[in-house]
Amino acid sequence: MTDRPEMFEGVDRIWQDGEFVNFEDAQVHVLTHALHYGTGVFEGVRCYDTAEGPAIFRWDEHLERLYESAKVYDIEIPYEPAELTEATIELIRSEGLESCYIRPIAFYGYGPLGLNPSESPVETAIAAWPWGAYLGEEALEEGVDVAVSSWRKYSSDEIPTNAKTTGPYVNSVLASLEARGNGYTEAVVLNEEGNVAEGPGENVFLVRDGEIYTTGLSESILDGITRQTAITLAEDMGYEVHETTISRGELYTADELFFTGTAAEVTPIRSVDGNQIGAGTKGPVTDDLQSAFFDLFEERPAEYDDWFTDVEV
Ligand code: PMP
Repeated sequence: MTDRPEMFEGVDRIWQDGEFVNFEDAQVHVLTHALHYGTGVFEGVRCYDTAEGPAIFRWDEHLERLYESAKVYDIEIPYEPAELTEATIELIRSEGLESCYIRPIAFYGYGPLGLNPSESPVETAIAAWPWGAYLGEEALEEGVDVAVSSWRKYSSDEIPTNAKTTGPYVNSVLASLEARGNGYTEAVVLNEEGNVAEGPGENVFLVRDGEIYTTGLSESILDGITRQTAITLAEDMGYEVHETTISRGELYTADELFFTGTAAEVTPIRSVDGNQIGAGTKGPVTDDLQSAFFDLFEERPAEYDDWFTDVEV
């Protein structure tokens, strides 16, 4: 095995198919169905070190999306949601993690290698590791430079975009490679109609005249849980939020733009294709929303208590 990537250095154990195994032993067969055909579903979740101790943010919603994604591919996850919850909490506790990223995955495993996966067993795993700001700490303050990708997002009648499926992430990988290769931090991907879909791993928000816009669910996007969080927080702060179509041109003339995502959290976008957005730094509405987002963990406001699953009870 190659050297362990730095991000996994402290990881002792991974939960795999019902038991905790040593990091090195969490393996799959090379004839795993999902390795060949991308037939897996997964989640990315964060646990924050909150004012009331480590707590998983919006675990129930992530778990629900995992089972819904699985449903699309007839993946019958052989564990109840409560079992995955217990395994995850136990994993975070035993790894001694206060804040971390959590990666549950369920996939068609080692079985006959044809396109029909129905004879392949469903394998399930959960890993957790510490992960800081996805696009960098500086990005949260200063914003990121993005480029509109030459790769389009597939539409939901080709591959359901509301399911978080491993295989189709090659689309996000292509967009990321292109953006980074051209010196940008991240991409914005358009849908087949040529309107804004999302980032490779983020949803997109736009601010104009003090109102907030984000791409609607029929624009070939993943229904991001951070997107839902941002909409709720913004509305509770009194902002008008519109779920709509956003054209490419509107990106360039926006007062503010930002990404949301479990990994990216709330990250300002300061330029698109070299065109400065607003003042070229984090705008006031983005700042307001980003503060409200991070205050959730610092302050644990009672009205959003349902969003937290405490690790220590
Ligand atoms: N779009 C895509 C394609 C993603 O991979 C993600 C990350 N899961 C998001 C949007 C944001 O979703 P969430 O806020 O649930 O992490």
